[in-house]
Amino acid sequence: MTDVKRRGVMLVLSSPSGAGKTTISRRLLGADDDLKLSVSVTTRAPRSGEVDGVDYHFIDRPKFDQLVRTGELLEHAEVFGHCYGTPAKGVEARLAAGQDVLFDIDWQGTQQLQHTARSDLATIFILPPSVRELERRLHIRAQDSDAVVRRRMEGAGRELDHWEEYDYVVINDDLDRAINEVRSILTAERLRRGRRTGVADYVGDLRRT
Ligand code: 5GP
Repeated sequence: MTDVKRRGVMLVLSSPSGAGKTTISRRLLGADDDLKLSVSVTTRAPRSGEVDGVDYHFIDRPKFDQLVRTGELLEHAEVFGHCYGTPAKGVEARLAAGQDVLFDIDWQGTQQLQHTARSDLATIFILPPSVRELERRLHIRAQDSDAVVRRRMEGAGRELDHWEEYDYVVINDDLDRAINEVRSILTAERLRRGRRTGVADYVGDLRRT
């Protein structure tokens, strides 16, 4: 296979909670060695089954504030009363090595990255098939109290307002199809001319031979 050097993609997935973003991310990551999840920091408490350092880095508020102050986060935002942020560490090295990073972040974080890293980004908004289905999924997650589910349903409306700020929209009414669509987007984004830093050399070689 002809391997042309390229810069990695910052693939951003956003959605209202319950739209299936986490399931889609896991399936993508499990089947693609070149894609790694950016593990965010958060001040939220772990849900049962969540592992520190895998799902999130769970930290307290003073530590979070310190990371903000020292410029160690690429973006950060408050979501549902908790702080979340994306560690900068390691991201640039991965991109420079031609490897991709998946960011599961909200619209506020995406807006910040649009300002600081536009040319590296490919952003996807995942839509649920219906509001009723969204609510059902939030309830079957069953880890959050009714009050938390209610708050997240209210938040879903606000998150939905931002779909137009994204490069792509995927409707998750069929999980396999949605995953295939996200995969296709990633494949196409990897092929963007601007990211393929090795093409000039490749064409130079073609000319010489
Ligand atoms: P949850 O508490 O359900 O894990 O996440 C709540 C929301 O916070 C989700 O929409 C998720 O995408 C978003 N989120 C998770 N990590 C980050 C982050 O590092 N930055 C931003 N801006 N949002 C995040």
